[in-house]
Amino acid sequence: MKKRFFSGIQPTGEIHIGNYLGAIQRWVELANNPEYEGILSIVDYHAMTMPYEAKELTAKIKEAATMIMACGIQPHNSILFIQSHVPEHTELAWIFNCNCTMGELSRMTQFKDKSQDRGESVWAGLFTYPVLQAADILLYKAQYVPVGEDQLQHLELSRDIARRFNARFGEVFPEPQALLGEARRVLGIDGDKKMSKSLGNTISLSESSQEIWKKLSTAKTDERRKRRQDPGIPTDCNIFTSYHRYFTGKEELATIDRECRCAGIGCMDCKKILAKNMETILSPIREKYYELKKDFSAVEQFLNASALRCHSIAQETMTEVRKKIGIRW
Ligand code: ADP
Repeated sequence: MKKRFFSGIQPTGEIHIGNYLGAIQRWVELANNPEYEGILSIVDYHAMTMPYEAKELTAKIKEAATMIMACGIQPHNSILFIQSHVPEHTELAWIFNCNCTMGELSRMTQFKDKSQDRGESVWAGLFTYPVLQAADILLYKAQYVPVGEDQLQHLELSRDIARRFNARFGEVFPEPQALLGEARRVLGIDGDKKMSKSLGNTISLSESSQEIWKKLSTAKTDERRKRRQDPGIPTDCNIFTSYHRYFTGKEELATIDRECRCAGIGCMDCKKILAKNMETILSPIREKYYELKKDFSAVEQFLNASALRCHSIAQETMTEVRKKIGIRW
């Protein structure tokens, strides 16, 4: 029996290097490991929890699917589907809504952050978002969820929901475990907040090397390095901790660390090395992305086949769930 993992991404903007380092890179690694079976989803219902334009959502769903394929999620190693193509997600979410308390949801820090300054005008869906997320994972009885640190609290709630459901109605769901990679929380180019599609502080995977350089060249470094000859502390520099650490090989990383500390290299030199190393990793993904984008049919076929497979797993789970909760016999 393969170990099943589930993970999702919101189609709310261009996929960025935080998504890549924190989640997608891990998906690809696991997908290519014969011990695992991966179910990955473009979670379009989640994207509706904040105000959005319908036409833009269609384009973003397509872009997200194309980019994930370009990163290495392919029909031979995974399932990649659009959440709304499998209606059982919202059915199970409703059942879980009646298995999760207002108190639990009120403690979710992501809700507090996203609803800040918006008072009572936020959609109810933003509040119940973690319940739908629990349904996404548990519908497939996934044992593992590769995510970034921002999702740990939601995942803990998924485990609580599974445990409570099993205790009330009988054993159905496993308690899913997080699989955290090294890049748990990649900061944005502002060097301050988590890189996030909704915060406009991203470097997206589809950006050209020129666009990336434009962002890197003005990005914040160790603020104590005011002049070229000032020594720096790499661990206090976002360029080093958030990006070099993941895009640069061990030996070169050690050299940068040493040379920054004695002002042997300046911040611009350091950023140029980073730009070169990012290009090595990102350019094949970018090329594949634009190639797939020219003819969407390969992506569409993958999405359709995946939806059929997911629908069949979801139906099995729901048959079991409906009986357990007393609405079928
Ligand atoms: P965003 O915050 O950009 O909208 P999503 O909510 O769609 O991202 O998250 C998709 C996946 O990417 C999740 O597993 C999430 O934990 C991960 N992720 C998102 N941003 C980061 C980040 N800055 N660092 C590490 N992982 C991240």
